[in-house]
Amino acid sequence: MCPHVPDQSNPNGEEMVPINTSSQPHIPPPVPAGTNGTQPNGHQSNGVDTNHHSAPPKVKSHKDMYGRASDFLSNTSNWKIIESTLREGEQFANAFFTLETKIKIAQMLDEFGVEYIELTSPAASPESRAHCEAICKLGLKRTKILTHIRCHMDDARLAVETGVDGVDVVIGTSSFLRDHSHGKDMTWITKTAIEVIEFVKSKGIEIRFSSEDSFRSELVDLLSIYRTVDKIGVNRVGVADTVGCADSRQVYDLVRTLRGVVSCDIETHFHNDTGCAIANAYAALEAGATHVDTSVLGIGERNGITPLGGLIARMMVADPEYVKSKYNLPMLREIENLVAEAVEISVPFNNYITGFCAFTHKAGIHAKAILANPSTYEILNPADFGMTRYVSIGHRLTGWNAVKSRVEQLNLNMTDEQIKDATAKIKELADVRTQSMEDVDMILRIYHTGIHSGDLKVGQSAVLDKLLQKHMPSREGSPTRDSPNKKVKVDV
Ligand SMILES: [Zn+2]
Repeated sequence: MCPHVPDQSNPNGEEMVPINTSSQPHIPPPVPAGTNGTQPNGHQSNGVDTNHHSAPPKVKSHKDMYGRASDFLSNTSNWKIIESTLREGEQFANAFFTLETKIKIAQMLDEFGVEYIELTSPAASPESRAHCEAICKLGLKRTKILTHIRCHMDDARLAVETGVDGVDVVIGTSSFLRDHSHGKDMTWITKTAIEVIEFVKSKGIEIRFSSEDSFRSELVDLLSIYRTVDKIGVNRVGVADTVGCADSRQVYDLVRTLRGVVSCDIETHFHNDTGCAIANAYAALEAGATHVDTSVLGIGERNGITPLGGLIARMMVADPEYVKSKYNLPMLREIENLVAEAVEISVPFNNYITGFCAFTHKAGIHAKAILANPSTYEILNPADFGMTRYVSIGHRLTGWNAVKSRVEQLNLNMTDEQIKDATAKIKELADVRTQSMEDVDMILRIYHTGIHSGDLKVGQSAVLDKLLQKHMPSREGSPTRDSPNKKVKVDV
């Protein structure tokens, strides 16, 4: 594994234009009457006004636009995070957190605003117990501290002595785990669960009871034990897709059924073995779940669980005001960088929100629409996360609108006809090799000077070639001085 270095460069060596998000209104695109504005390919309609400085037309609200299916069960505007980087994340292959690192992560998650953090069981090792006690003494401002234990009185006794705000109890209920792991039957499980829950409750702290491998457990067993623990006053019951086998419809069905059986909160935990962890968390909230377990970058056992950033991205679309009111979103990148460094991984290039290309637009047609109204090709506003959008222009797919934006940034005085002509040259050169930002700027400056000195007229491609050779001699016939793989740091 390579150490994580926050890297905002473009692997193709293409240069990009940062677009100032503060001056760009992020306004949903116009919705044609009778449609939701989406074409069969899932892309937004591109019927935008060619005058890209015109004010965007008035549109429906966010909620109307995406036509969310919603009913009385849905909690997509009322949910909480149980952040488990310091428990589930500790089970990630590369994770070895020192107390110092754990404290930093806990404090940042508190500042970010997660409602709970979950810590490794104090029964796991003497150090785990010491860490749990130390984090409880930090005096976090808004985040409650939980620890995650087996359904066993010895573990429960240790847990309540650490100073945690609550205990998450788990036991395997599937036949796989009953037969091959702990070897206990449902009668024993129920009896022990009652004993542990009543003990933890007697200490005046929160208690959650969760099954493990819930989606391969017998429904009748699950509902029976959840009903029992709900009756004796558990704060939350937990549903866990421990093996990552569930799809969103199964999740919706189980949580919806459970919602009709218990009155307490419902916590959910989804592994990502088949790529459904975020969608399953969302389906669970739609069906009435109240809490979602996450970890930073999704780290955990095997390939991990619902990632914090991915859940935030998903929920921002459902109810941006709710998410923005609860969480300190610009901190997301900092938390991810901290955890990535601690476990010696890189933030993936396609990471939700913070991946280096998450807000980079390349295709000419996209760039044009983005410049007119960012919502045409962006469902999330980078400014909400302290990020910046980029339009990549030094490539063969570029368009004159994107180049025009650069011309304006360079304060060059060029007509649209001239910009289109210069764009044709950029595309011609980029057909041979991607152009760096310096190259694009030089081409535009040379073009601009040529036009204003009278040496160049629109359409004189050969004259422009001579000017480029004269003023960019280091090109030596090559369309770019830079390696196509040159990584360019961009400032966000
Ligand atoms: Zn797990």
